Amino acid sequence: MSEPILRVEDLEVAYGGVRAVGKASLQVGRAEVVALLGANGAGKSSTLRAVVGAVRPRSGRVYYDGQDITGTPPHRLVARGMALIPEGARVFARQTVEGNLRLGAYTVRDPAAHAQRLEQVYAIFPRLRERRQQLAGTMSGGERQMLAIARALLSGPRLLLIDEPSLGLAPKLVEEVFDALAELHRGQALSVLLVEQNTAMALDVAQRAYVMQSGSIVLHGSADELRANDEVRRAYLGM
Ligand code: ATP
Repeated sequence: MSEPILRVEDLEVAYGGVRAVGKASLQVGRAEVVALLGANGAGKSSTLRAVVGAVRPRSGRVYYDGQDITGTPPHRLVARGMALIPEGARVFARQTVEGNLRLGAYTVRDPAAHAQRLEQVYAIFPRLRERRQQLAGTMSGGERQMLAIARALLSGPRLLLIDEPSLGLAPKLVEEVFDALAELHRGQALSVLLVEQNTAMALDVAQRAYVMQSGSIVLHGSADELRANDEVRRAYLGM
């Protein structure tokens, strides 16, 4: 098997004396969508934060493309093709949609390459094209989430890390955001680590998933295996 794009080994994260993640290990393969599932406070966001160097893990290692990146700060990782979309999809409210997208492309020096990426992004999110002159602050929650994803894509990432894209969105918009994610994955050789509480939606787009509980990974398998798992059905799918 070729080296996965992301490999997390025995990651431990603690805030002061309180352990949030204990010895978590996971992998994301090339062009694979992997979901990290679990209830509130399970340690999903802390795992993501440690992967992108926003918090320093107490122990454990993170490998990106086979290289040890443990503790490398987020801006260096962006330059190496990793993009993080944090919880709550922050956009620049006083800028237009297009202005936000220009800011997302600050690492792209070649104007022709930028124009081409912008076209690709607009093809995936036609609504953003229609609203390119609208101020981002006046967009709906789902539209802002799409804009945050689109902006991250303009840096041309190979690995996308998304924290709870469904948070606070109406079901219809959640569906749109996930449809866009699925479309993205079909169109580009992009790897995605998706943190979600919306288990059903996440298992629809992911090929594999890990389930976290109290800071540990308690289950993992293919999306089909997890959907068929009694514990997952009871605890996370309400069946
Ligand atoms: P949610 O789905 O609610 O966002 P999560 O699975 O992402 O939850 P984390 O945000 O990683 O969980 O939190 C894991 C644990 O770590 C929780 O008990 C939380 O209270 C604690 N925690 C998170 N961030 C901090 C912090 N900055 N300082 C102290 N404790 C924290």
